[in-house]
Amino acid sequence: MDYFEYKNGDLYAEDVKLGDIADEIGTPFYAYSTATMTRHYQVFADALRGMNALVCFALKANSNVAVMRTLARLGAGADVVSGGELTRALKAGVPAAKIIFSGVGKTDSEIALALDVGIRQINVESVPELEAIDRIATAKGVKAPIALRINPDIDAGTHAKITTGKLENKFGIEWTVAHEVYARASKMDGINAKGLAVHIGSQLHDMEPFRKAYERMGDLVAMIRKDGLTVETLDLGGGFGIPYGDEAHPIAGVEDYARIVRETVGDLGVEYIFEPGRMIVGNAGVLATKVIYVKEGSTKTFVIVDAAMNDLIRPTLYGAHHEIVPAREPASDAESIEADVVGPVCETGDVLAKGKTIVRPRAGDLLAVRTAGAYGAVQSSTYNSRALVAEVLVDGDRFHVIRPRVGIEQMIALESMPNWLD
Ligand SMILES: *Cc1c(COP(=O)(O)O)cnc(C)c1O
Repeated sequence: MDYFEYKNGDLYAEDVKLGDIADEIGTPFYAYSTATMTRHYQVFADALRGMNALVCFALKANSNVAVMRTLARLGAGADVVSGGELTRALKAGVPAAKIIFSGVGKTDSEIALALDVGIRQINVESVPELEAIDRIATAKGVKAPIALRINPDIDAGTHAKITTGKLENKFGIEWTVAHEVYARASKMDGINAKGLAVHIGSQLHDMEPFRKAYERMGDLVAMIRKDGLTVETLDLGGGFGIPYGDEAHPIAGVEDYARIVRETVGDLGVEYIFEPGRMIVGNAGVLATKVIYVKEGSTKTFVIVDAAMNDLIRPTLYGAHHEIVPAREPASDAESIEADVVGPVCETGDVLAKGKTIVRPRAGDLLAVRTAGAYGAVQSSTYNSRALVAEVLVDGDRFHVIRPRVGIEQMIALESMPNWLD
């Protein structure tokens, strides 16, 4: 469910014609729909009704400050994985008391920042990190609120690059030693051990890995409590999968997910934290791009567009599939062709869609790459000295450029010539 629809033959984001944005700011650009994000947040929060739950939006899916503020106004907290994301969440108006800090490689200065701003919780991913937090907090004369992120050794059944809950992945503390580490943490001067956290991967379609992981968490909570220690919070991570239009399997609903949560860990009397990212913003964004050339090869047709792997790397990095639709609604009898939709970057891997059946486009046509709101703009770069892609937020009949295109002059201005080259 999203708010990108054809009206009178033109693709709209809510009540704004995509073509009008393109006319005003050029292409490529990301456009996000406030109504879609709002709906997804609400559906997720509603499914958890009656539970003592805090929904912390995973900023790594889309860290634009305006996107975060949109969600913060609905009551969302933030899950951050760097000092930079922490700063963004605060800037967006998320209270520190609603921010969770995850990630395997937090530096001393990031930990100090988190403690200084009064973060709700740091999710600890290793014993050396626990020791570092203890040292830094003790020096500051505070107790750091922490949860141990557990590696439950559960296969999420998702893409290898986004699975995180197996022992061979770098994330979390192995579940078999977690109760010992928790006992140790509970004795540290600079540590307030509040609970456990788990996140087994992203783009999960199958609910069973969630069930297995959460059952394991429930067992761990029981074991730790038997040791006489308190567990007041359980962070169940994110990872909820969304449809990209190539699904072979049915997509389970948020209600199914919430039922599994209730069945596995619902009666532990803890406060629950959730960290959805993709599920909130994925369908809420499109990448708008113009066709530069249609190149008919002897074996293949290439649609060369002005967006590339530096703007949206998901197809290149994960072999991800995205629907690509024309901004002008095609006639029902329009000719379809099979083509690779590619960008101008000088890399064979620069492909937005491979072997795709699309309505034959013409140079100058505006296209929308759908479901690009998560892990899109956040991974954009300026490779090939291409401009950093613009981002636009739509709300009803208005839109605002929430990140302008960053062009070559601004990029070069950041570089500096050593005096021996003057
Ligand atoms: C990436 C990540 C998330 C969000 O995952 P989604 O699949 O976008 O929901 C949540 N928590 C942690 C710790 C993450 O690394």
